[in-house]
Amino acid sequence: METVGVVGLGIMGAGIAEVFARAGLRVIGVDIDEGAVSRGRGHLESSTGKAVERGRLGAEERAAILGRITLTDKRDELADADLVIEAVPEVMELKRALFADLDRICKPSAVLATNTSSLSVTTIAANTSRPGRVVGMHFFNPAPVMKLVEVVTTVLTEDGLGGEIAELATRLGKTPIVVGDRAGFVANRLLLGYLNQACRMLEEGVASRDGIDTAMRVGAGLPMGPFQLLDLIGLDTSYEICEVLFYETKDRRHAPSPLLRELVTAGMHGRKSGQGFHPRTAKPTAPPSSGPKVTVTTIGVVGDGVDAELLRERLDTAGFKTLDGHRDADIVLAVTAPPVVDVAVRLPNPERVVGIHLVGAEVAEVVHTVLTAPEIATVAQDLARVMGRTPVACADRAGLVVNALLFPYLNDAVRMVESGYASFADVDTAMKLGCGYPQGPFEMLEAFGLETVRDGLRALYAEYREPSFAPAPLLERLVAAGMKDVKG
Ligand code: NAD
Repeated sequence: METVGVVGLGIMGAGIAEVFARAGLRVIGVDIDEGAVSRGRGHLESSTGKAVERGRLGAEERAAILGRITLTDKRDELADADLVIEAVPEVMELKRALFADLDRICKPSAVLATNTSSLSVTTIAANTSRPGRVVGMHFFNPAPVMKLVEVVTTVLTEDGLGGEIAELATRLGKTPIVVGDRAGFVANRLLLGYLNQACRMLEEGVASRDGIDTAMRVGAGLPMGPFQLLDLIGLDTSYEICEVLFYETKDRRHAPSPLLRELVTAGMHGRKSGQGFHPRTAKPTAPPSSGPKVTVTTIGVVGDGVDAELLRERLDTAGFKTLDGHRDADIVLAVTAPPVVDVAVRLPNPERVVGIHLVGAEVAEVVHTVLTAPEIATVAQDLARVMGRTPVACADRAGLVVNALLFPYLNDAVRMVESGYASFADVDTAMKLGCGYPQGPFEMLEAFGLETVRDGLRALYAEYREPSFAPAPLLERLVAAGMKDVKG
């Protein structure tokens, strides 16, 4: 493949054109009219210009890249292209009409590819006279930077074409994974389930927007909190992807959260519209820094294990008196899995009982029950700060924030492999290179321990009765077999 057409020169199309031209291929970029073509040229000039400013590209190299790209508003100029990739808006009717036209214009041997994030590649392929030569080639934003390409084949795709396109992606300096045609493919299917669940968690009042963002960014070590990421992706786009996922899976967790719907209807689409979950100017959230105002001296610690020990040690060092008993304590910290209220009702002073769950090295989930006095919950947060941890206040629910969001995501990844859709390695690659996660889900699963995740999922299922929270049969079997890692 030497000549590549790119149709639609918006955020993705311009980036994709740049990627091909950087790899030495000739590119013909097409958009609807002169105005759109000149916006596309602007994207290309600005992106390559920034690369030069940052010293990542030489000025001559930049000129050579731009020289390999021809821009036009005439689709017929794609007649000689070996591959045409479309990146027009995510609307099935638009894509179907475009593919019918490309099918007419392009030579019979040309491969037609779509950059769709969520639409059915099979439906798009079936609308042409060459369904065997239609694939998905899903780049991530920004295309010149993100390494992952999901190559999507359908039941109609010619044998070997998926591999050929994957080789081409490698030639572009990308890491491809070849997968079948399912809504959301690998990365978006796993990601949006998690993001939508975070919206529901916010709606249910389990924790605040900033609490959830902090828990996932600082506690779980993800590059961004879910609401920061939703604002970046765009709430409208996220809503649409959830709709498509739900249409296919009928999994309630993919049904867009009512809060997401309301924000989208109100025009709050995230960064691009200036306001989403966060206002445009909001920096990543930091807890109030007024400093702890702790007014307690004796602290009861209930629970054993490493975290309870750590808690006692830190509080002793900070000058508090920790008691093994709790009757005389000003506050009781229960280092226990939820429900914390089970512990509280067995103690004489349930209004003074707060749950503590340490997450990673920097976060403490601070759990208030329906019996906890509000001032005691505040003191517990201050104590978390004294221990050098960022407190995340949350309600007494299974999994609290971090485990309740991460474990179902890990379970979804296991189900994906179990169904034969993708391999362990492909799923890990997709989440690391497509979403910038520091670890893939299976690396994360092994770090938590398979049994811990299985037990956490059982608790979530028992609490919410959500079918998809039940541990995947493969996970149950791996735990039963005593395996410590998924690859056996
Ligand atoms: P965009 O709105 O930035 O760009 C779309 C471009 O297509 C515009 O330049 C528009 O003028 C052009 N266009 C519209 N109709 C056309 C037609 N009939 N013929 C030629 N050009 C036409 O959209 P985008 O964000 O670049 O998304 C494009 C595709 O890429 C979508 O399918 C989307 O799901 C997918 N995608 C987007 C992202 C992302 O983060 N934005 C990531 C991966 C995939």
